[in-house]
Amino acid sequence: MQFCDDCGSMMKPGGDHMVCTGCGASSARDRDLEAEFVTTESQTDGDVIESSEEANFEGKPIASDVRCEGCGNEQAWYTLKQTASADEPPTRFFKCTECGHRWREYN
Ligand SMILES: [Zn+2]
Ligand SMILES: [Zn+2]
Repeated sequence: MQFCDDCGSMMKPGGDHMVCTGCGASSARDRDLEAEFVTTESQTDGDVIESSEEANFEGKPIASDVRCEGCGNEQAWYTLKQTASADEPPTRFFKCTECGHRWREYN
């Protein structure tokens, strides 16, 4: 919205100019106001990707053929991680469902 400098009436677009509805004066058209959404947020480095050993085990498959050294519980979450060469079986990382003790098993 633009108003006349002379009489304060509302200006209406008239060609390349704005024309006053009151006194008929014309003035340069206001530049269209562009909504400038300046992003001031800088990209954070993001979350550090957890290694397999520190990964969240909750929700992972549960192995029942194990025994926790910490509490004797025989169930533990586990994840598999291929190590060294592909010829060898993957290492299993366990986390006790009871006490949270973590260990790994080399097949
Ligand atoms: Zn005017
Ligand atoms: Zn345990």
